Amino acid sequence: MENTIRGGQFLVKEANCENIFTPEDFNEEQKMMKDSVKEFIEREVAPNQERFEKKDYALTEALMRKAGELGFLGVAVPENYDGLGMGFVSTMLVCDYISGVTGSLATAFGAHTGIGTMPITLYGNEEQKKKYVPKLASGEWFGAYCLTEPGAGSDANSGKTKAVLSEDGKYYSISGQKMWISNAGFANLFIVFARIEDDKNITGFILEYDKDNPNGVSFGEEEKKLGIHSSSTRQVFFNETKIPVENMLSERGNGFKIAMNALNIGRIKLAAACLDAQRRVIDDSVKYANERVQFKVPISSFEAIQYKLAEMATSAYVGEAASYRAAYDIENRINKRIAEGNTHAEAELKGVEEYAIECSLLKVACSEDIQNCSDEGIQIYGGMGFSADTPMEAAWRDARISRIYEGTNEINRMHAVGMLIKKAMKGHVDFLGPAQAVADELTGIPSFDMPDYGELFSEEKEIIKKLKKVFLMTAGSAVQKYGPELESHQQLLLASADILIEIYMAESGILRAEKNAKRFGEDSQKEQIAMAKLYLYNAVEKITQKAKEGIISFAEGDEQKMMLMGLKRFTKYQQYPNVAALRKEIAEKLITENKYCF
Ligand SMILES: Cc1cc2nc3c(=O)[nH]c(=O)nc-3n(C[C@H](O)[C@H](O)[C@H](O)COP(=O)(O)OP(=O)(O)OC[C@H]3O[C@@H](n4cnc5c(N)ncnc54)[C@H](O)[C@@H]3O)c2cc1C
Repeated sequence: MENTIRGGQFLVKEANCENIFTPEDFNEEQKMMKDSVKEFIEREVAPNQERFEKKDYALTEALMRKAGELGFLGVAVPENYDGLGMGFVSTMLVCDYISGVTGSLATAFGAHTGIGTMPITLYGNEEQKKKYVPKLASGEWFGAYCLTEPGAGSDANSGKTKAVLSEDGKYYSISGQKMWISNAGFANLFIVFARIEDDKNITGFILEYDKDNPNGVSFGEEEKKLGIHSSSTRQVFFNETKIPVENMLSERGNGFKIAMNALNIGRIKLAAACLDAQRRVIDDSVKYANERVQFKVPISSFEAIQYKLAEMATSAYVGEAASYRAAYDIENRINKRIAEGNTHAEAELKGVEEYAIECSLLKVACSEDIQNCSDEGIQIYGGMGFSADTPMEAAWRDARISRIYEGTNEINRMHAVGMLIKKAMKGHVDFLGPAQAVADELTGIPSFDMPDYGELFSEEKEIIKKLKKVFLMTAGSAVQKYGPELESHQQLLLASADILIEIYMAESGILRAEKNAKRFGEDSQKEQIAMAKLYLYNAVEKITQKAKEGIISFAEGDEQKMMLMGLKRFTKYQQYPNVAALRKEIAEKLITENKYCF
């Protein structure tokens, strides 16, 4: 499989299903890793679900240690620092399957392996990596990441924590307050961001923490949170905490860059971390719907319930498709850069940065999917769904945080569109050329040909192409109209991001189902094909609404009329799918298998 589509280019290039990776492409090593993580979760985590809800922080710490013993904390760490040095897809896979039962462990795992460890593996010097990374990879030490402050959340570079160089030039003295710090209650190492003098940008530091010698570090009480009850979240206070100068991470003033790049990686892994949670919610919902009898029949026989099950499974199937598609693209890019002579750290940074747009889109999409899915899960359980005695209540509460951390979904939406525009300006993605072509097409005479859509997904693929035109038409005109001022038109940016998300997700779903239909036969993929079609139908509806909202808000007169006509043309099916029948087909499969079976 060779990837020819670079970051952001999905919008202007047609992807070929042979070139995308799907969960059905896991190799033997990946399958073994998946089984071993699943086995760990079933044995150690699932039976303890109740303890996680009762704020058993010690349990989270103990399970993190076990995860370390099994090698799970070191999957992404290169072998020369005692990690497993597995590829990006494998690291996504571990994030995915370790996160299903409880958001508490998912958060502890994500904070430690992602933002707690990655800044050192990616930006540390050789000595720092040798000293700290093996301890973090094995779980001997745990890491935390201190960026957020009471006055600096989304505006992460505005922190007030200070770092003052000592007179003898041997250490920095750090003073300030950080908040919402995951793993704070049991971490041995903190990545701390602070400002030196009046620098424009913050600087990153590695702080070792020994509770017997606190070095000016103290903690707030555990935060009382809506969900992820056993994830330790505390404020961290630094009072003239001494950090040796050799523990500065990268260079002075590089902290904001480190923070942002660590988040790029964190975002796509957070998307993966929402997937198994979704599968489990669907499994439980299907089982409950099959068991619960009302009006003398199982509630799964009602179309109202089938509708929900089908939509839940569809978003999970597409979420998997898009997450692993992007993960593999990133892995390819990393390997390419390593082959060109980059170090592992450089290659990983650049590889993920290349697909930063996709990382943000996936973070938003998958975090909202698990939220909607667990919400519908509660509804399927009826009154029981509202009870803490069923798994839906905790799943719903745990899901909520994913829309907030690793950059809120608003920030990620705007970030994705902003990055795309920047890439276009730099000439990395030719976005303006195709946008002009769409503008020309709008003033031309539309084709009245009736193409033959006999082949699987031929009409759907044509629609995907047209949806890309919708984005190019609306975002292209908005960029032309507002230029750099577009940044302040946030409603437009948010609507554009929603269009982008739906295009990437819908296309990924279709490519996965198409690839599998080609290799396993169409008959064996009937329901998957139905899911890809259903997702696309829903995407067309959402895109129509978002694009219309944009057009009527910023275009006027003839331009508005022309664009609305274009929107109609670009969102039209020759033959609409029977969506009720699609949902029924998907739901019947789930009900028969009594689980999420794709
Ligand atoms: C459980 C939990 C664990 C966390 N773990 C960590 C951790 O380990 N380390 C760490 O450093 N941080 C952590 N965080 C902090 C988290 O990253 C921040 O909460 C998040 O970035 C949002 O910042 P904020 O809470 O200050 O919200 P704010 O930035 O105040 O945002 C409030 C609202 O305003 C919106 N908003 C903000 N700016 C803009 C803008 N420019 N345009 C439009 N809308 C905007 C946001 O989208 C949001 O809806 C954690 C938070 C929680 C709740």
